[in-house]
Amino acid sequence: MNSPTSSGEKQAHVVEQVLGNQPFRHKLSLVLYPDQVLRTVCRPVETFDSALRDIADEMLALMRQHRGIGLAAPQVGLRHRLIVCGIEDLLFALSNFEVKDFSEPRDFVEGCLSLPGVQVKVRRPERIRVTGYDLHGQRRSFGAVGLWARVIQHELDHLNGVLICDYQHPETEKCAHCPLELPTVLVEELKHESRPKRRR
Ligand code: ZN
Repeated sequence: MNSPTSSGEKQAHVVEQVLGNQPFRHKLSLVLYPDQVLRTVCRPVETFDSALRDIADEMLALMRQHRGIGLAAPQVGLRHRLIVCGIEDLLFALSNFEVKDFSEPRDFVEGCLSLPGVQVKVRRPERIRVTGYDLHGQRRSFGAVGLWARVIQHELDHLNGVLICDYQHPETEKCAHCPLELPTVLVEELKHESRPKRRR
């Protein structure tokens, strides 16, 4: 997800903090719409090893390079249930997670690193509870509110092949950059899908 308040200087500082003196490795690159990997229902992460942590590090660096606050594995061409998020200097990665206890839905205009220039008003719960696994396979459960809740739900959508353009009303708010590709009923089914067990 794009940062709603991008600040180049601050982002650069955070990248330095995250990567230290390591040069950015450029192994991964951003996948843009309409690449079909963005429509994948991703599979659970099964191995929590150093390779996974390297991927998450690279995803964080790539996210920061593009001034984003969240990035999901399919956005770098990987079909696994892995995301990274970072707001200001708080960064984390999460895998195989589900979101529960939705409350207080609110509209907010979102952008997406895979859909440059596209902005869509999306209604999402303001408060959620998240349960998943960190990069060492440890189970984590926490509450998220506001922008954190939003970015986690945006990235969860990516793991189910759902993009922000799917939230537009097809009749009144057609997005020229991003025509719908999935039947509405399937899109509705995929939205907020949070159980990695369900596969298609
Ligand atoms: Zn996105």
